[in-house]
Amino acid sequence: MNNIFESRESEVRSYCRVFPAVFKTAQGAEIFDDSGKRYIDFFAGAGTLNYGHNNPLIKPRILEYIQHNGIIHGLDLHTTAKQAFLETFDNIILRPRHMDYKIQFPGPTGTNAVEAAMKLARKYTGRNGIVAFTNGYHGMTAGALAATGNAYHRQVSGGLLNGVSFAPYDGYFGPDVDTISYLRKLIEDDSSGLDKPAAVLLETVQGEGGVNVASTQWLVAIESLCREHGILLIVDDIQAGCGRTGTFFSFKPSGISPDIITLSKSIGAYGLPMSLVLMKPELDCWEPGEHNGTFRGNNLAFVAANEAIRIYWSDNTLSLAVQHKSHLLKRYLRKLCDQYPGTGLSVRGRGLFVGLASDQFPQVARRVSAEAFRHGLILETCGARDHVIKFLPPLIIEETMLDEGLNIFAESVRAVMQQITNTPAGGLPDSLTQEVHP
Ligand SMILES: *Cc1c(COP(=O)(O)O)cnc(C)c1O
Repeated sequence: MNNIFESRESEVRSYCRVFPAVFKTAQGAEIFDDSGKRYIDFFAGAGTLNYGHNNPLIKPRILEYIQHNGIIHGLDLHTTAKQAFLETFDNIILRPRHMDYKIQFPGPTGTNAVEAAMKLARKYTGRNGIVAFTNGYHGMTAGALAATGNAYHRQVSGGLLNGVSFAPYDGYFGPDVDTISYLRKLIEDDSSGLDKPAAVLLETVQGEGGVNVASTQWLVAIESLCREHGILLIVDDIQAGCGRTGTFFSFKPSGISPDIITLSKSIGAYGLPMSLVLMKPELDCWEPGEHNGTFRGNNLAFVAANEAIRIYWSDNTLSLAVQHKSHLLKRYLRKLCDQYPGTGLSVRGRGLFVGLASDQFPQVARRVSAEAFRHGLILETCGARDHVIKFLPPLIIEETMLDEGLNIFAESVRAVMQQITNTPAGGLPDSLTQEVHP
């Protein structure tokens, strides 16, 4: 196939290789390509489209704002759009949760929020080190990449990643090993070689790392370890936040109170770039412009975010709907796993942040994703070996469409499993094990 994408777009392109179509329009949980083929979207921009594509409740506000020549670009100038967003975020998100945080608008991508969070922790504590976790994902710019585990992404940095030490995430050595006591020992032993860090940086559910869920006990234990030693706790809620796990902040059920929180992906509500760093007020030691940037105020995103928060977070309707659909989704997937005993399929996740792991045959995940795509369902794979199929449907997806997508999924699993069982020696042919990360 010779097309403008292949001839002109850099080799760095990735998702488009896994989902090879030219997409044109989208609505809710559906996306259509240029030939009119319809796909159900269980990917949702990697968790950016929690409210669906072109949400019809949000769209009129955006159109109206443009129609009235509302400020689109304004650096970090005060605008009415930003004012309204801040007031809404304060009144609907922070105050009812008794959360007192200052809000920083860094550049509009997630990685920029992580950079800002790491810088702030270092500046505030005067210490350099950050502890991040195995299989963590925090972005691609140098500071955040240093805290990202994946070797494929790290290797292109020319060895310039520093200032981060890795500790084992919850369950890294299996359910029986307490990874907190390992970290505690390193921190408390002056001869461990681990200098006292400025901060601990974690995801409550690791998104790119394979939908690994940290338990409440683990999160609570990390928090007390941090408090005991004056280490800041940063929760990167970029993928797990904005309702993905069922509550606006993913850590809420655990009761922990992070010092710094990063948000991006769905905070812009309409797929519009925006990111936030929330910090406890006493940590706000920034000098004006110290973490600067041209695109720190995406006013269209403020308009969309303001509307989404007012519509979806003024009461618990969305939260309850997520919990209900989560239950349906997991029940369906568990039943599906039961149909393939001995293949090592398992279900994990919280809310509508769910993974189906294929530990025994890691390549099954990629093949099922490809098969599903052919039948009109978009699903991403994740995890160190790309062995986990990730379910991230828009939170507003209708149950009938969730069901329709799951049926396509079940058919795709059946097709792939059939190929495997027909393969001699119960394994997969060699060529299939050699797939490369996009
Ligand atoms: C996606 C993601 C990031 C990076 O966000 P970008 O907008 O891609 O820079 C950081 N942390 C987590 C947890 C993410 O899922």
